[in-house]
Amino acid sequence: MERHDIVIVGAGPAGLTVGLNTSRARLSTVVIEMMTPGGWAATTELIENYPGIGPVNGSELGARMLEQAQSFGIDYAQDEVRSIERTSEGFVVHGGADDYPGSLVVVAVGSNYRKLGVPGEEELLGRGVSYCATCDGPFYKDRTIAVVGGGDSALQEALYLTRFAGKIYLIHRRDEFRGIAVLAERVQAHEKIECVMSHTVESINGADGVESVTLNDLKAGTKRDLDVEGVFLFVGLEPKTGFLKGLLDLDERGYIITDEDMKTNVKGVLAAGDCRVKSLRQIATAVGDASTAAFIAQKYVEDDEW
Ligand code: NAP
Repeated sequence: MERHDIVIVGAGPAGLTVGLNTSRARLSTVVIEMMTPGGWAATTELIENYPGIGPVNGSELGARMLEQAQSFGIDYAQDEVRSIERTSEGFVVHGGADDYPGSLVVVAVGSNYRKLGVPGEEELLGRGVSYCATCDGPFYKDRTIAVVGGGDSALQEALYLTRFAGKIYLIHRRDEFRGIAVLAERVQAHEKIECVMSHTVESINGADGVESVTLNDLKAGTKRDLDVEGVFLFVGLEPKTGFLKGLLDLDERGYIITDEDMKTNVKGVLAAGDCRVKSLRQIATAVGDASTAAFIAQKYVEDDEW
């Protein structure tokens, strides 16, 4: 692809907000995405804490963000980025389909679902095991399912799944939720949801599809099987930063270390959104990071200020 001032890796809320602002500032900008615009947020049915426009469907918000950035001239490329190379003129971002030269790179790759790591999880993936309620929820009309996790994702997605499932066991390893109180209260009050606290999943069982989960009762020290036809796992996130090892400073969990201006340890590379070290991962904080990154990017490209 032709050279751009700014190459953005990832078209979630962070990447698209950087692109909106840099293209609006008349810097040539390309955003590269391997999945769909909107990132992880696009898999959420209802976003109700984004100021001014909630409640809104996640994929609709992603599509609107892309459309808004494109109205200012951003280029969009569907590709999987494999590496970032420093050159004498800046950087070349190497994708599976093309190379993307640029003066400055913004890494906004977000995060992936964390795996639970129990027997049956991989074997029954797509046959009852899922990490996406909006994708797979409609398959479970009137069925009995389990949701695993105790954070905002598990609570929010369990509530969404009540539209389809007849019964939901929400399995959490502690006796209190990590997610915010308003979601926890809704979950506890919902007639279709039974909270199974202080339990872990030891295995997911079934031949051609999920038939049950084996639970460990952490307080009683006993085991039991629970008959379910689907298992939705929401046990946290992991950054998609493996391809950056050796180039950028990462913390022990793989999140990118930046300063408050979103600068990484490499001059000319910024990071924004869920993939960087921070205390709160929300669309609003991703968009905040991205607005700062776009401002810093502009100063760097136009005035060589870092
Ligand atoms: P999270 O907040 O990290 O919660 C992960 C949950 O999974 C925790 O309850 C954790 O248990 C549990 N867990 C982790 N590993 C486990 C294991 N091996 N076995 C059993 N349980 C395990 O992740 P998240 O819910 O995906 O949320 C990620 C970020 O996105 C958070 O910052 C969250 O606030 C944000 N988010 C925001 C919204 C919103 O603003 N509307 C919606 C969704 C997510 P413990 O509690 O015991 O650690």
